[in-house]
Amino acid sequence: MKASKVISALFLLAVLGTACSKTDDTSEEATALVTVNNKKVTGSSSRDLLSDAKFKSMVVELVYVKGFEPSAAAVANFVSFIEARTFKPGGITVLKREIESPAKTVYTTTDIAAIEDANRTKFNNGTEIAVWAYFSDGASAENEGNSVVLGIAYRNTSFVIFENTIRRNTSSNPFSNTRSLLEATVMEHEFGHILGLTNLGAPLQSNHEDPDNSKHCVVESCLMYFSSEMQVGIGAMAAAGAVPQLDAQCLADLRANGGR
Ligand SMILES: [Zn+2]
Ligand SMILES: [Zn+2]
Repeated sequence: MKASKVISALFLLAVLGTACSKTDDTSEEATALVTVNNKKVTGSSSRDLLSDAKFKSMVVELVYVKGFEPSAAAVANFVSFIEARTFKPGGITVLKREIESPAKTVYTTTDIAAIEDANRTKFNNGTEIAVWAYFSDGASAENEGNSVVLGIAYRNTSFVIFENTIRRNTSSNPFSNTRSLLEATVMEHEFGHILGLTNLGAPLQSNHEDPDNSKHCVVESCLMYFSSEMQVGIGAMAAAGAVPQLDAQCLADLRANGGR
């Protein structure tokens, strides 16, 4: 009785061992094939994100450094923004997760991409398109003087929010919603780039690209006005008390490329 138990236990281990190594092999191959679709240039997945021709649902993998989680209100606002602009009958899912600090104070876009490569787990899969949203504990290496970068869309389905910079620039008053407004504004602006705005994958339906700030909209009140992702835009946003909306011309570009 004892002996047979030992034998079955050994047998089980052997089977599990084989199964595990086999699974590892296939998943490594599968991952290698699949990640390439999420490492393309910003704006190139415009149509895939907007329409349901290829992808019926969307998963947003929202990863933040411990202590730098965005507010629930901002995340809810962001999901409403995606729902209003895209056709995803299978729904939008947000998967939130925290990671330890990479322990730098300033991050280049190369650093940010490396953090994604080490931590991202969701990639386009079947009819589900995946997006990576990362909330950093440091500042952008692109900051210069009073030109402070709050977010960057750097791949076809990836963007970073410099949450630490957002917090430094917004009120610590718990009754003020300035921080959550700014978080939502920067998330939606960066997602707007990923959706192909402005002239970044969603072809222009009218001449509204800002000649002085390429890939941005010339309309000052539009979400895609360049200052929405910079510190200089904070005053206007706070004064309005609301997240800027896309203007009619940006909406027309998205609709022409499969958007809602
Ligand atoms: Zn921008
Ligand atoms: Zn616009």
